[in-house]
Amino acid sequence: MIKFLDIQKITQRYSDEIHQAASRVIDSGWYLLGEESKRFEKNYAGFIGTDYCVSVANGLDALRIILKAYMELGIMKEGDEIIVPANTFIASILAITDNRLVPVLVEPDIRTYQLDDTKIEKAISPKTKGIMIVHLYGQCAYTGKIGEICKKYNLKLIEDNAQASGCKFNGTVTGSLGDAAGHSFYPGKNLGAFGDGGAITTNDKKLEETARALANYGSNEKYIFNYQGLNSRLDEIQAAILDVKLKYLNKDNLRRKEVASYYLTHINHPEVILPEVNNWDAHVFHLFVIRSPHRDNLLQYLNNNGIQALIHYPVPPHKQKAYKDWNNLHLPVTEKIHNEVLSLPISQVITDEEVTKITECINAYKN
Ligand SMILES: *Cc1c(COP(=O)(O)O)cnc(C)c1O
Repeated sequence: MIKFLDIQKITQRYSDEIHQAASRVIDSGWYLLGEESKRFEKNYAGFIGTDYCVSVANGLDALRIILKAYMELGIMKEGDEIIVPANTFIASILAITDNRLVPVLVEPDIRTYQLDDTKIEKAISPKTKGIMIVHLYGQCAYTGKIGEICKKYNLKLIEDNAQASGCKFNGTVTGSLGDAAGHSFYPGKNLGAFGDGGAITTNDKKLEETARALANYGSNEKYIFNYQGLNSRLDEIQAAILDVKLKYLNKDNLRRKEVASYYLTHINHPEVILPEVNNWDAHVFHLFVIRSPHRDNLLQYLNNNGIQALIHYPVPPHKQKAYKDWNNLHLPVTEKIHNEVLSLPISQVITDEEVTKITECINAYKN
């Protein structure tokens, strides 16, 4: 079986360094809010290109805390609207509704799967306070037009960078393009921890201070609570491990691009639509997503041939029971995407032989 993602194999590559880092923390007796997370925050901010990084417990919390901080700072209030792509992973939307803000779902572009910037202005109302772009599948969702819309309507631009660590837009790393960004270090992400992890990056000092307090019970000073916060912190062990893996992230992403490039030039089947890549800097291929009108058959066929492919995602947020009120919304582009997408195995450790086998298998597919 070719695994969709072989995390064990990824870990083996840096095994010695990771064991050393973990042992150092274990032996130190200091497990939270210490030197390791401080160092990782500094290095990750440097990597992204922002002044600040606040490490938190996971990617969902990173986004939740950004919005909560904007509310504490009086920039957003309950009932305000945030524009978000309708085809995102549920966490982007949970972060908004958890703060009693209102997500306004906007359709993606069928060619890129990213937020369609021609449909944003129609969705803006006097209550709109921000746009959350999601660099879905590892591809940059930012466009100059989105930046202009944010300026014109005075909106905060929040990046959901959970899938795109190391991605660039005209030389600028995603996570530094907007006012604030949420990052995820879930084990399967391009920069994966050994458990949950996340971070907020920003150049906004007030936002950084507020977010840091919110993640620590609402406190900047021991036993003094300025906000009703939460407990959302990155463990020292995770920070030490992430700091090891961060050094290899660009190289790992290059291997993903190599694999993507092979798929793009060698998969050739009339019923398979390949992703469009116009800018190789602007994609780190967290996922390699193809589309097919016979997606479910194709998936079964790949499984029968020992290839594990997955669907990201089978049901869009507006069709979920968790968001019952939206179940009757009609979002045809999003629905088509969810009915047709299929993610092929891709990672920094997949071998040429595996990639060739997957490609040949797809090319031989008969519906
Ligand atoms: C993974 C993911 C998140 C949430 O990150 P967690 O660390 O799993 O909480 C948010 N948004 C997107 C697009 C993601 O893929």
